Amino acid sequence: MTKYIYEFGPDKTDGDASQKNLLGGKGANLAEMAKLKLPVPPGFTISTECCNHYFDLNGRFPDTLEGEILKAMANIESQTGMVFGDPENPLLVSCRSGARSSMPGMMETILNVGLCTATIPGLIKKTNNEWFVYDAYRRLIMMYSDVVMEKAEQITPGDGMGIRLNLEMMMNNLKNDKGYDNDTDICVEDLKALCELFKKKIREDLGADFPDDPKEQLMGSIGAVFKSWNGKRAVSYRRIEHIPDSWGTAVNVQTMVFGNMGETSATGVAFTRDPATGHNKFYGEWLVNAQGEDVVAGTRTPNPLNNDTQNAQNKHLPSLEESMPALYKQLFDIRNLLEAHYKDMQDIEFTIQEGRLYMLQCRVGKRTATAALNMAMDMLEEGTIDEKTMVCRLDPKILDDLLHPIVDPEAEQTAVKVAEGLPAGPGGAWGQIVFTADDAVQWAKSNKKVILVREETNPEDIEGMRAAAAILTARGGMTSHAALVARGWGKCCIVGAGALKINFETKELRVGTRVFKEGDTFTLNGTKGIVYQDQLKMKNASENVRFKAFMDIADKYRTMQVRTNADTPEDAMTALDFGAQGIGLFRTEHMFYGADSDKALFLLRRMILSKTCEEREAALEELFPFVKEEIKATLEVMDNLPVTLRLLDPPLHEFVPQSRENQQEIADALHIDIEEVFKRSEKLLESNPMIGHRGVRLGITYPEICHMQVKAIFEASAELIKAGKHPIPEIMVPVTCNEKELAFVQEIVTQCHDQVLKAYEIDALPYLYGTMIEIPRAALIADKMAEYAQFFSFGTNDLTQMSFGFSRDDIGAFMNDYIDNAILSSDPFETLDQEAVGGLVTTAVERGRKTRPDIKLGICGEHGGDPESVVFCHKTGLNYVSCSPYRVPIARLAAAQAAIMYPDCP
Ligand code: PEP
Ligand code: MG
Repeated sequence: MTKYIYEFGPDKTDGDASQKNLLGGKGANLAEMAKLKLPVPPGFTISTECCNHYFDLNGRFPDTLEGEILKAMANIESQTGMVFGDPENPLLVSCRSGARSSMPGMMETILNVGLCTATIPGLIKKTNNEWFVYDAYRRLIMMYSDVVMEKAEQITPGDGMGIRLNLEMMMNNLKNDKGYDNDTDICVEDLKALCELFKKKIREDLGADFPDDPKEQLMGSIGAVFKSWNGKRAVSYRRIEHIPDSWGTAVNVQTMVFGNMGETSATGVAFTRDPATGHNKFYGEWLVNAQGEDVVAGTRTPNPLNNDTQNAQNKHLPSLEESMPALYKQLFDIRNLLEAHYKDMQDIEFTIQEGRLYMLQCRVGKRTATAALNMAMDMLEEGTIDEKTMVCRLDPKILDDLLHPIVDPEAEQTAVKVAEGLPAGPGGAWGQIVFTADDAVQWAKSNKKVILVREETNPEDIEGMRAAAAILTARGGMTSHAALVARGWGKCCIVGAGALKINFETKELRVGTRVFKEGDTFTLNGTKGIVYQDQLKMKNASENVRFKAFMDIADKYRTMQVRTNADTPEDAMTALDFGAQGIGLFRTEHMFYGADSDKALFLLRRMILSKTCEEREAALEELFPFVKEEIKATLEVMDNLPVTLRLLDPPLHEFVPQSRENQQEIADALHIDIEEVFKRSEKLLESNPMIGHRGVRLGITYPEICHMQVKAIFEASAELIKAGKHPIPEIMVPVTCNEKELAFVQEIVTQCHDQVLKAYEIDALPYLYGTMIEIPRAALIADKMAEYAQFFSFGTNDLTQMSFGFSRDDIGAFMNDYIDNAILSSDPFETLDQEAVGGLVTTAVERGRKTRPDIKLGICGEHGGDPESVVFCHKTGLNYVSCSPYRVPIARLAAAQAAIMYPDCP
């Protein structure tokens, strides 16, 4: 019989922190805290395995589950002395989701389960607090009707007004009618009446009664939490975060503790260190007389936990340290214990019920890139973690944020400030303001940079938040939804900018007397929390000494080289600054599109439109000095480092002049009529240019083009050698699929090499000759290709295109459908498809090495800068990865982590 239930609590705990896959993050850590003898209210976790079985059974619980639940409930009852459904001494429980990796706010929670007509009087008697009981009841009705009766039943209200919004509106109307400012002002009689009205409305709108039976509530809640794994928000979050559908969620059923039982009760969220800066300070927010959702919802400005947490928005509010010093001390000790135990920053949730502290959650806390870097380095220096652990503490993807632009401090000095808020997400960003998540998505689709401005965000805004360059909210604290999500993504974000008065109907924003409209441009400094009018200049984050030190340590463990894809001396220099160890791909065609390349492009076009070999050779001769200079400039910057120079790759028609002026210019130069230019251009058109006359095929048809390029490479190198430099050119042939193509080009190369040696009177001009592997056929006959090629560079852009048969240029039109329908878990042009494209790479590596054991192997497709793909490259035994300059640090770190995680790979 499969065990579905794992208990936790003071008396009995089954699981521990290592069981995240089975118990979800929340369940595993509740068990761990219980084992550490921390004050965890007793409960149990229903496993993710059960969730998957529930879906396999088409939404039916496995037969043995109910029995297990009853047994576990009985254990909770014996530990708490309360009984579920008992009229005298009722036990209430919460039902929360908990996936393997945190999906903040994406799934559902139901609190106060077990409150019903039969248990209400008993709880009133026990707590002597009728208001509290009815407040808990109305919360249960609101959550249950929304989550269990509407969402889980897949009822979509036609007018977009779900039951929860309807009930909230009823409550707001009541508050307005009676002049209540806050929820806490509503009197008991009104609360009671409201609960009855709620139930009536639920019956009218959803056609079913709110259940008055505790067991029915419990089972309904468990099923609905399972179902929320497949809710719209959760699914779209999983797509963004590449979380597999097969993981499922666990459900945690836990004794309710109440932070809303009066002035000696409270609830809060804290981080064991500052999640924004990484400073070793206990950081958090709390609210007196409130339930957890109130802190995260941002409807009340939370109080600071202590002096270290004070900011402009909350400094007038009393801290927990001042208000409840003994409890603060207990919490502070728990903070120290948890850090020492987990050896990482924890994000914790706690509740104080009538002067007693309870721990409701702990998990590794999300943090900004700066904080992650600082904490990792601090913990290494403190002796808490070792170097390898430190290297693995930074997700390579977030390095982007450390290198990301910030608002130019000089521009900030004269900028017009709009408002201030809390610095929830780092860096700077500018964009046009929009007020709904849908608008953010739509505007971003038409290539506009937007800032999503909301009162506060909720999980339904997730797509808009993703699409926006930055997020700005009027309400909420550092632990609000917007702050958590933005921090997770490393997105610039400011929350709690209270001066903003938003009118969603007119799509306007007022700050005092100033009015801003949708489409106006703002700049956000997310590091300081300041909002400015207009677009300000951005600056790249300056040299970060700690970052360099961190990367130096990471490099100690890395076994794979990291090169860059660069085709100008400027890009090469940027990449060198980021730690590149060579150029893995210099696309020679790019020199015709850079700055000041008009003349060169003209000559190239003349060459392309030449009809005879003589015409072409004359054009090539004129083109030659330009090509040589371009190559030489980059080889010089990369002195002593390998530079892979790829021979011309794109189909020639890409270079044909489009404007009449350019066409006339060519016609004049060739002494032909413009009509003849049209004719010659037309001849170059192809039905499928990506699999047409490109790459090595051009060199086969026009060996003189190949010769000109190779000569330029050798002469540039010879001149550098004569000047005392050490160029290391590697000549690379693209789009090959047959070893005879390589033999053909090799003849040109060796001939040219001999000529240059003689002409320059030098003894040696070292170089390598190799090919890209970007056609499946080439991968499969790699043993033959290696007879000629001294190196392979996997062109995984084309290799993906040609393996899937997906056009690189048209994939955007349908890739989302593949992702949405879970046919693919990620875009194979972003993250290498290890199954098939990776299979071709592995095959080519094996076969290539068989022929030539010392063959040099690298990758230069976009995947060379994707962390997951880099790990694959390490495991496959490649010598290097090559990626764009800004991704070099990402690749370095991913390669270091791969070497630490897979030390035995070749
Ligand atoms: C490739 O195909 O992976 C590659 C690097 O070449 P390009 O992107 O220039 O076709
Ligand atoms: Mg290619």
